[in-house]
Amino acid sequence: MDPVTGSVSIDAQNIMPIIKKWLYSDKDIFIREVVSNACDAITKLRLVDYKLAENCSVHVEVDKVAKTLRFIDDGVGMTQEEVEKNINQVAFSGAKSFLEEYAKDEDKENSGIIGHFGLGFYSVFMVADKVTIDTLSFREGATPVHWESEDGMSFTMTDSDRTTRGTTITLYINDAEEEFLNYWRVHEVLERYCSFMAYPIYLEEIKPEEEKKQDEAEATVTDENGEVVKTEGEEEAKEEAAKPEPKPINDTTPLYVKAPQDCTDEDYKAFYRKVFHEYEDPLFWIHLNVDYPFKLKGILYFPKLKEQFGGIEGQIKLYSGQVFVADNIKEVIPEWLMLLKGVIDCADFPLNVSRSFLQNDGYVRRISTHITKKVADKLTGMFKTEREAFEGFWPDIHPFIKYGMMRDEKFAERMKDCVLFKTTEGKFLTLAEYKERNGEKLENKMVYTSDAARQDAAIRLFTERGIDVAVLDQAIDVNFVSYMEYSATAGENFKFCRVDAELESLTAEGEAEALDQDKLTALIREAAGKDDLTVEVKPLANESIPLMLIEDEQTRRFNDMGRIYGRSEYTMPAKYSVVLNSRNKTVKKLASREKDERSLLLTRQLYDLAELSRQPLEAEQMTEFIRRSMEIVDIASEL
Ligand code: ADP
Repeated sequence: MDPVTGSVSIDAQNIMPIIKKWLYSDKDIFIREVVSNACDAITKLRLVDYKLAENCSVHVEVDKVAKTLRFIDDGVGMTQEEVEKNINQVAFSGAKSFLEEYAKDEDKENSGIIGHFGLGFYSVFMVADKVTIDTLSFREGATPVHWESEDGMSFTMTDSDRTTRGTTITLYINDAEEEFLNYWRVHEVLERYCSFMAYPIYLEEIKPEEEKKQDEAEATVTDENGEVVKTEGEEEAKEEAAKPEPKPINDTTPLYVKAPQDCTDEDYKAFYRKVFHEYEDPLFWIHLNVDYPFKLKGILYFPKLKEQFGGIEGQIKLYSGQVFVADNIKEVIPEWLMLLKGVIDCADFPLNVSRSFLQNDGYVRRISTHITKKVADKLTGMFKTEREAFEGFWPDIHPFIKYGMMRDEKFAERMKDCVLFKTTEGKFLTLAEYKERNGEKLENKMVYTSDAARQDAAIRLFTERGIDVAVLDQAIDVNFVSYMEYSATAGENFKFCRVDAELESLTAEGEAEALDQDKLTALIREAAGKDDLTVEVKPLANESIPLMLIEDEQTRRFNDMGRIYGRSEYTMPAKYSVVLNSRNKTVKKLASREKDERSLLLTRQLYDLAELSRQPLEAEQMTEFIRRSMEIVDIASEL
């Protein structure tokens, strides 16, 4: 043909400089764009002739000396008309709206994610000074076409010398982007974006002749005198034959595209370890496999908790037709699901999208709803049919379920009857079971401990009366109990009370001896050195306890949250009252005798003991407590 020159499209002049400027930090994606085009070309060929496409593959060649990066496929190829239409008259519409959106985002807060959305073939101009295409269409009688452009804005088209079907794209890498001439750098990008692409992708380093010879020499076997033992002829041919076949960098049928019934537990675990570089097995997983009304495939894994206190680091990789799009896109996957690990492939999800598309698209919302539903189904199903296994997983999965419930009303509605409360005695009870067992003694209430060791004395007050105490000792629990109350998920006016905040149910029934409230109040206030202490005298069910400090549940929770979020400047003064047990022998004595040194000494000791069972004493207070204890021991020894 006669050489054809021209301008790519009217928009190109405006768009190319922007592409180069704005996407500076996310250049890697050009590799994905070119390789996925190559895979698409093979798919197109397959649609025409299945047999012809059987052994098709993509080859990527890095050539440091020539400073080129080459992508070769044996797909459909393009005729001259097709190059005209597909390459020269590019529809930049997707890219345009994307860039407009991107430019608005002044803080570049989302640049990490947004840069992963593709710009198609033209993204190669981010790294190349010159790009050539050599292509031969599969169509009979087609002539090969050579296309060349230095800036993505103007091009030249001539005949090509290509003799085989397919397309070769050669990038003459810009000096500033030399990293893309490094085999391992390219390998890394291919691994990230192309790991699951549907056709084998090979990466090869093209070495100059001298280097090749040197490599061969290194591989030659010599004896101790330096004599060559075997090289040429038959031996060489044998060695050549014994060389392992070059391996593609990708897995063309990742586990998630297979039918769930064809996958074994070991397959799921191996896939998890490989994709997430994990050593530990996941707890369990959900295989998503939907064809209608949208295409969605994937596997979601529930990971084991890394740390004792809820450290979960999830990762959801989003793919579109086996092409990696990005990690953790919150528009598609509800944020709370990102505590899981998994791969999700939405085949109809376009690679060229803008944020506004994602945020407003009904399709994306339906995907997100579907995923949520599947997760809830899996969990409720397991709760119903494998309660024991579910209980075993509970310590690992409860932060996820609780967080999900607080974030998503529908999920909460589905999960609320499956929430378990572990008791201090190691039982796992649902709310309904808890109510049934304890409802008579505790009206519309659950008692819990946030620290079973420290709050042991208070816990016993309940367990001794046959009341179950729930262990809610994770960071998320502070929020979760508040959520359960205000959302009335546990029922109207249902309350959660920490063991040291709940008094009502500890009060003994029947007539109690009336003690001198004023006298005891004055005594306690003087002993504690606090004039404004609230003091109550009440008959407690357990006679042996003289004094308890009851802390206001709401104030304490507020302060706990402040601590969790690292905002201790917002703490409220602790609000607690002192309860003296009118059934206790020592308290009765204190109420009946005149105040003197000894009654003050005793009261101080009782007060510190009560304090000690709530939290560690301050250094000074501790020293005084020990000194006073020895004084009391002295007195006792004289009796
Ligand atoms: P998109 O892939 O989103 O359509 P691109 O800019 O990446 O946009 O590519 C434009 C078009 O060029 C493709 O749709 C395809 O028709 C054609 N094309 C690109 N690369 C190849 C290739 N390796 N083989 C055949 N056709 C190709």
